Amino acid sequence: MLRRTKILATLGPATDKPGVLEGLFKAGVDVVRMNFSHGSAQDHLDRAEAVRALSKKTGRRVGILADLQGPKIRIARFKDTKVYLNEGQDFALDINFDPMAGDNTQVGITYEPLALEVKPGSRLLLDDGRIVLDVVNVENMRVNCTVTVGGDLSNNKGINLLGGGLSAAALTDKDKEDIKTIGIMKCDYVAISFPRCAEDLNEARRLLVAEGCYAGIVSKVERAEAIVPEIMDEIILASDAVMVARGDLGVEIGDANLPAVQKLLIKRTRELNRVAITATQMMESMIENPIPTRAEVFDVANAVYDGTDVIMLSAETASGKHPIRAVEAMHRVCVEAEKQRSVRESDHRINIQFERDDEAIAMSAMYMANHTKIKGIVSLTESGSTALWMSRISSAIPIFAMSSHESTLGKVTLYRGVFPVYFKIDSSQDHAEVNRNVVAELRKWNKAKDGDKYIITKGDLNGVEGGTNGLKVIVVGQGLTP
Ligand code: PGA
Ligand code: MN
Repeated sequence: MLRRTKILATLGPATDKPGVLEGLFKAGVDVVRMNFSHGSAQDHLDRAEAVRALSKKTGRRVGILADLQGPKIRIARFKDTKVYLNEGQDFALDINFDPMAGDNTQVGITYEPLALEVKPGSRLLLDDGRIVLDVVNVENMRVNCTVTVGGDLSNNKGINLLGGGLSAAALTDKDKEDIKTIGIMKCDYVAISFPRCAEDLNEARRLLVAEGCYAGIVSKVERAEAIVPEIMDEIILASDAVMVARGDLGVEIGDANLPAVQKLLIKRTRELNRVAITATQMMESMIENPIPTRAEVFDVANAVYDGTDVIMLSAETASGKHPIRAVEAMHRVCVEAEKQRSVRESDHRINIQFERDDEAIAMSAMYMANHTKIKGIVSLTESGSTALWMSRISSAIPIFAMSSHESTLGKVTLYRGVFPVYFKIDSSQDHAEVNRNVVAELRKWNKAKDGDKYIITKGDLNGVEGGTNGLKVIVVGQGLTP
């Protein structure tokens, strides 16, 4: 059974082991994430190469997403790797303290302006909120705190400020260096961490284009500032895809606020014709265990009900014990969740006047598909935008995006319900011949048998972007279609 919701799996040491990447392909991974917070440039280049080789070998185009680290603020290191902090004790963060010599009373930090951006009473959350420090005062760039929630604290753990407000720019020097690697790697998407506004995303896009990279931009919504309504819209519109980055976001806004924000972000993202990704801890217990908890099963299904295009695995696949099983578990939960009626019905943009003919045709195709007996939709597409519009409509009908452009096939790997198929049209072919070739391609993938009805959308002029001006219905095995 075709699954519509896409699975994005992070690569890492666990997927470098022999046979694991093949296993992820078999289990149905759609896109892989190169996490630039870990590993060397060469690791990422090698993994991208391995993914491309397998895509070629299996004929299944798996997308590649490069995820920049961004300004994750971190403590420096401890003399003895880690310390134990007791509730109620004093503890200081100090930019001028030896970054290798932290102890039970103080540790260095990597972010210069911290002392200028906190005040007495500010609450700092370390290691995804496991440790809580309340700021007492600031003296000479040294932030003195009381430990409110104690525990083990080890080298290089992240720091978040409750409520947000740290001013760090989204692109660091390391990110700018990594963008050069990404230019060589040729990926389909680049994720920007901690963007504050549209300009952070525009700047990233400019730097990528300068390296010859035209990847789609994914904004990771993980700062409190980014969910203020006007800012949220501007960030969504400056992006091709939006990630609900629940790890850092949950620390900044408080975990209890996450479910409502996830629903709102996914809804708004789809309304604005962008792609939604739900990320972090979806199958967290599978880092150790071969099956998910019931709560994790519900989390994945609920993200499907919320309308997410993509669900993401982080450490579950990158460094967990059961990377293949984690993808299999997501797959089976999605397939069942997608059988729910609410997931297949849509009132998306039902009252809207469309500005473009190609957009109107995409909407018409979905209306027809959802209201008659149609096996599938084929969008012959140059840029993939027809397939994107179609996939914003909830439906149970698969959309095959057929294109000869590698970049388009890569982009659609994130679109819910859209499946990339390499397909070449040359300008000498007439419509009947194109139809015949479409059917032959569907048959090759076991997606068509005699009597199946398909919708094909295409432009009169092959090879012209934005030229979709036709919607055709064909019945496999009848008339001009073999
Ligand atoms: P990360 O982003 O895994 O790169 O931190 C996702 C998140 O914060 O949820
Ligand atoms: Mn994050």
